Amino acid sequence: MSMLEKSFTFAGRGPGSRHEVANLSFGDPAARPHVHVQGGLHADEGPGMMTARMLADLLGEAERSGQLRGHVTIVPFANPIGLAQVLHGDHSGRFDLYDGRNFNRDYPDLTAEVAARIGDRLGQDGDENVRLIREALAAALAQRSPVGPADTLRHHLIGLAISADVVLDLHCDGEAEVHLYTQPAALDRLAPLAAFLGCRAVLLAEVSGGSPFDEALGGPWQALAARFPDRPIPLGCATCTVELRGRSDVSRTLGLKDAGAIFDYLVHLGVLTGAVEVPDALCLPTPLAGSEALSAPVAGLLSYAVDLGTDVEPGDVVAEITDLVTGVVAPIKASTSGTFYARPATRIAEVGKRLGKIAGSVAFRDGPLLSP
Ligand SMILES: [Zn+2]
Repeated sequence: MSMLEKSFTFAGRGPGSRHEVANLSFGDPAARPHVHVQGGLHADEGPGMMTARMLADLLGEAERSGQLRGHVTIVPFANPIGLAQVLHGDHSGRFDLYDGRNFNRDYPDLTAEVAARIGDRLGQDGDENVRLIREALAAALAQRSPVGPADTLRHHLIGLAISADVVLDLHCDGEAEVHLYTQPAALDRLAPLAAFLGCRAVLLAEVSGGSPFDEALGGPWQALAARFPDRPIPLGCATCTVELRGRSDVSRTLGLKDAGAIFDYLVHLGVLTGAVEVPDALCLPTPLAGSEALSAPVAGLLSYAVDLGTDVEPGDVVAEITDLVTGVVAPIKASTSGTFYARPATRIAEVGKRLGKIAGSVAFRDGPLLSP
């Protein structure tokens, strides 16, 4: 491998335990655009890790053949803490078993520190403002001293991504069509990626709540632009969360397909030499606040009436829950029209279980928009 490889090690929670995160680098570290790709922040989500790894393989070849023009960094497994959480034979990688915190929440918001550092130095040159803000973001982050392994990991992961032009955080759902979450301001830069990946839903929210990784990176740029409306502040970091199908959709075939799509996107961005045509999008973007989350009103066995990717209408039965005592079947109906794009991987429903998501085009929800 010709890439520069850097590893970061940090102390685990107990004496004598350590964790390691690898960061792979392709191209000149000073070159732009810089695209950062991360897999496995939720450590029980394999598709993103496979895709990140196989993208690294493709980029290794591209670098050897002189195709790298920009800079790409790849973290193939972002969460060694979660990867070590194997409970009775199953990986449990979404929440920290120590305190129940979601590994993709609670990232620091550096807006206030950056505004205090450079607010009066922002001028009328957008590119210069981007440079100043990137510097200030890194300096503000360096001032923070995380305590404990999970926040040390958050701090490190944000630091790897903070100066990138584009950041892709690769996840998956229980079972799902490929879909993507991003902010409206980043859509023009990420819509081509959605098209290359064949996304069946693109969900937009300015703030979805809980401070996930991607929004902590993109958020300060939008907040600063709102705070200093008389200064040009472009979005210096366009970020998204990509959901690469379901948890069991891990294969080298799918990994290569998705890595190939991201590779084409990198060509499109000019990170790699060459020319590609952006394919037609398979869906229009919809508001995350319009995404209906179905939930189980009763307990029982879950049976889906429609396949993922189906376009449903209000009143359509999406699933049925069979009561094991009485045999009564409770229909679960859509109340919005849109694509049924994600559902859990298990079929035993407890009361309140999330049963799936429909990408409706009309916003109707408020409050935190992401699953816990
Ligand atoms: Zn995830």
